[in-house]
Amino acid sequence: MNETYSEKQLKNLPFMNRNLDLEERVEDLLGRLTLEEKFKLSSGRRMYHTKPIKRLGIKPFTMFDGPHGVRADDTGEIKSTYFPSAICRAATWNPELSQEFGKAVAEEVRDVGAHMLLAPGINIQRTPMCGRTFEYQTEDPHLNKVLAVATVKGIQSQKIAACVKHFICNNQETNRFTVSSEVSERALQEIYLPAFKATVLEADAWSFMTCYNKVNGTYGSENYNLLRERLMGEWRFRGFTVSDWSATVYTNTAECVKAGLSLEMPTAVKYKKTHMMKAFQEGKITEDDLNDNIKRLLRVMFLVGLYDAENTLPRGSRNTPEHQAIARKISEEGIVLLKNEKALLPLDINIIKKLAVIGPNANLKLLSRGLYSGHSSDSFPPYEITPLEGLKQKCKGKVEIIDTPSKADITIIFAGLNHDRGMDSEWEDKSVFELPSEQIELINKTVKENPKTIVVLINGSPIAMEDWIDNIPSVIEAWYGGMEAGKAIANVLFGDTNPSGKLTITFPKRLSDSPAHVSKRTFPGADKVYYDEGIFVGYRHFDTKDIEPLFPFGFGLSYTTFSYESLIIEKKKIRDDDVIKVSFDVTNSGKIEGKEIVQLYVQDVESSVERPTKELKRFEKVSLHPNETKTVIFQLKKEDLSFYSETANSWIVENGAFNILVGSSSRDIRLQGEIEYLG
Ligand code: BGC
Repeated sequence: MNETYSEKQLKNLPFMNRNLDLEERVEDLLGRLTLEEKFKLSSGRRMYHTKPIKRLGIKPFTMFDGPHGVRADDTGEIKSTYFPSAICRAATWNPELSQEFGKAVAEEVRDVGAHMLLAPGINIQRTPMCGRTFEYQTEDPHLNKVLAVATVKGIQSQKIAACVKHFICNNQETNRFTVSSEVSERALQEIYLPAFKATVLEADAWSFMTCYNKVNGTYGSENYNLLRERLMGEWRFRGFTVSDWSATVYTNTAECVKAGLSLEMPTAVKYKKTHMMKAFQEGKITEDDLNDNIKRLLRVMFLVGLYDAENTLPRGSRNTPEHQAIARKISEEGIVLLKNEKALLPLDINIIKKLAVIGPNANLKLLSRGLYSGHSSDSFPPYEITPLEGLKQKCKGKVEIIDTPSKADITIIFAGLNHDRGMDSEWEDKSVFELPSEQIELINKTVKENPKTIVVLINGSPIAMEDWIDNIPSVIEAWYGGMEAGKAIANVLFGDTNPSGKLTITFPKRLSDSPAHVSKRTFPGADKVYYDEGIFVGYRHFDTKDIEPLFPFGFGLSYTTFSYESLIIEKKKIRDDDVIKVSFDVTNSGKIEGKEIVQLYVQDVESSVERPTKELKRFEKVSLHPNETKTVIFQLKKEDLSFYSETANSWIVENGAFNILVGSSSRDIRLQGEIEYLG
């Protein structure tokens, strides 16, 4: 059993044969492992690797952070493309870009010799105050799902494993190692699980990372219900689970093994040989339990080609102009124009003589500002173009850049946050909802000196704007836009790119308007955090409770305008599996080319349980020349009308009327029709 093989012998073992079926290779290798070797494979060595087993030629399986670019070492010697934050990527509402990002970042993972990227992070943005809201995509489960699936597909197209994280309800950083997220089954089904589920069903995700927190009293890493029953049972996940780094500290060895936790990272704590052996000898775990966990890890090792010759695998590449162009494109398409009174924007490079560029974020490089800016999403880019640098490049020889607003034709203030703790960063939640007070003072003072003042925000989560926004004619949300952000921002400001991003999270006027901020019990809790809002997360809450947000979900302006006409719903009375075909025309009614994100929401007119006023079910980003019209066609099914019934313990659709709402944002519905579900 524990024979040592020569290199030549190894090459001839069945598991090394690429032509054999994947499962045969897995079984063959598993059959050669001793119990102790299985223990050994169950936990990590140093930060990002599994342990090798030399006698069988098993190399370390290597996984690196993170969600915005691969960080292959902590010294900064190995550089990689820094892509925009996930919230910016999501704000493009463009799944193709998510897929392109996934492919590009996976090429970089391959190039540094690793096998898995610790991304994407797809926790629902439950609150603007979560330190990691910038790392996540959206408050809406449908949008979350579409973008997550595209990202995983992109990553895995390169035979690099995606690691979908953090499973599940890790929606805050406060007490993250101990808190229990107390959440209803309906909210899990309708809000928190759908995107995770879709990455398995629609993209065959090869790995899931468990969360730090407990879910309804049980830690993610030892949660039999979440891992064995839902993920592996119901969804038929064939990949492996990995603990978040040190997420197992308060768990129990046997419970983790039984729940299906394959790999404990970064090093053995509960999966130490002595603990494993004890659990085994006491009969708390069996070799079969372990076999299933190990088989999953081996399967992914084969899928990423750990045992295959390099020339048979997709080629890696890093820091290429192509990857940098993708980073810039995401940044450009993710920028959201929030306000543009008197069409101050776009700026005309031939008219402006002096441009004042000020503010703390004007020349701020966001990454590697100390050890780990933002923590696991930090990386080391070869360069980072700041907004000031981007504007200097754009304006060279045409517009003078100064720092005195009173002497300028136009002033741009780059305000916002960064990845220091207490702002948009892992480990701590945000400490305040407002901009730092000196920034608010700067904005209000500057606009008095120069009324033509534009505020560009660099941040990764909603912030309060009530103290200054009414004084400012134009406001742009530029997020953390990656290494090419400066160029992207300059392109949008000067109109080379027409902004087309829309918000994927509601911006509340006041924090107390936000559904998670009703009391301390709902955020941040203590031992427990109560998700009392249930399914009423984000716009579902604002709409249903009729609270006016500062900017609604799905909102974003353009330099052109769009009109919507001719809604046709082919069949108004539907039964069973009928397809509901909805079509309408969208026209660019302005003077320049632009992209509109059209959104379709469903509203249940009458229901036996409380349902949100509307729910996003379809969207599409449509590119249009001036005066051009395109017909958009969406197909809905009965699932799109359903809700999770806690009485029936399943998804159900009730007979009756539903409204189909089509619009430009969740609060700008342009067309409306009705259908009836007859059962
Ligand atoms: C984070 C994960 C990350 C891991 C490894 C943890 O602190 O929560 O998202 O992938 O560290 O760096």
